[in-house]
Amino acid sequence: MDSTISTHDRSRCADRDANDPLAGFRSRFLLPDGVVYLDGNSLGPRPVGAAERAAGVIEQEWGEGLIRSWNTAGWFELPRRLGDKISRLIGGGDGEAVVTDTTTLNLFKALSSAVRIQQQDAPGRRVIVTERDNFPTDIYIAEGLADLLNSVGGGYEVRLIDDELSLEAALDDDVAVVSLSHVNYRTGSMWDMASVTAQIHDAGALAIWDLAHAAGAVPVALNAADADYAVGCTYKYLNGGPGSPAFIWVNRRHQNRFWQPLSGWWSHARPFAMADGYEPDNGAGRFLCGTQPVISLATLECGLDIALEVDEAELRAKSLALTDLFMELVEERCAGHGLKFITPRGHEDRGSHVSVEHPQAYAVVSALIERGVIGDYREPGAMRFGFTPLYTSYTDVWDAVEHLRDILDTRAWEAPEHQRRNAVT
Ligand SMILES: *Cc1c(COP(=O)(O)O)cnc(C)c1O
Repeated sequence: MDSTISTHDRSRCADRDANDPLAGFRSRFLLPDGVVYLDGNSLGPRPVGAAERAAGVIEQEWGEGLIRSWNTAGWFELPRRLGDKISRLIGGGDGEAVVTDTTTLNLFKALSSAVRIQQQDAPGRRVIVTERDNFPTDIYIAEGLADLLNSVGGGYEVRLIDDELSLEAALDDDVAVVSLSHVNYRTGSMWDMASVTAQIHDAGALAIWDLAHAAGAVPVALNAADADYAVGCTYKYLNGGPGSPAFIWVNRRHQNRFWQPLSGWWSHARPFAMADGYEPDNGAGRFLCGTQPVISLATLECGLDIALEVDEAELRAKSLALTDLFMELVEERCAGHGLKFITPRGHEDRGSHVSVEHPQAYAVVSALIERGVIGDYREPGAMRFGFTPLYTSYTDVWDAVEHLRDILDTRAWEAPEHQRRNAVT
């Protein structure tokens, strides 16, 4: 970019903060002093109210209510009630989603259900398409399902694509289902959900969307796009807490067609009938499995209630403004250090995080974390920074880039403690 005139300085960032319509949300989250948190795309911070809510569950509902709380405190309804709240955030309707299990498990259910539908409607279709640079669990689960089906003579295959062109080429008459991440976990690049879903349907396949890096970060309109299934995490941009259960959304036209294979008792029409035969619930409840983590569901609701107050257009506008600012500042202030963006620049092509490659990316991220600027590292060679409009300010972006510049200028990343890998990056 033209670096002759910089339009940015810290006081201009402060002016933008003063005029930020979302600035009030920052006080709803607990953020330690001295931390610039750029990893809310991996683990959202704690909503202030979550501690009180968790204490209420532990002390009153569990402590005093004991098993009665399944009925008296609404525990039994939590997966459906929170599913409705999430559905509203991602362009679905009531009764179309449940909160349960993990994204990984929910993907297995969605893929299995889509494959079952195609076995009925288009039995020759036995290819599952997904992305080579998808989050690995999404590929592993597709391969695991194909392996299970093939162990009983299924003839299934996982086909990996790289981009829009190879999607077009891959969509032949053998494809049963296409499983894509709306926003790529590593690069931040984003598919156009509506047009790509239409393209997949035109080719006779079903579309599953992984919203892990999209829900709570970018506008999502599942019914408008006519998506078939969606899954996603709640501990990222939805601020549900570490390991909070995931969601699964199922288009109404598919909900009651087949059992999903993890047909546990919670997906039964009458779990406490303890009936001899399995009779699946109607609706999204069919995608439940077993007993749910009540404390995690309770803290998740605090995050969801905040997300439901947010104006989606304001969220997206600030997300793009923060990510634009970060990229412009890095180009201006860290020039000459061999940084390379792997995140697309076009607004319609990216989500709410930005990734930058550097030969010493792990060590640089480690040095940033030591200074309280928390991003993360993703193999191979990428620093990843999540910009979460509810609690990240424009001055945070400025300060983060200044630390990055200083670390690169002084080669602070060379210190031995930054060369050692932690188990979780
Ligand atoms: C974070 C993430 C997951 C994580 O799945 P878990 O089952 O919660 O471990 C899966 N898929 C994508 C695309 C992700 O970004």
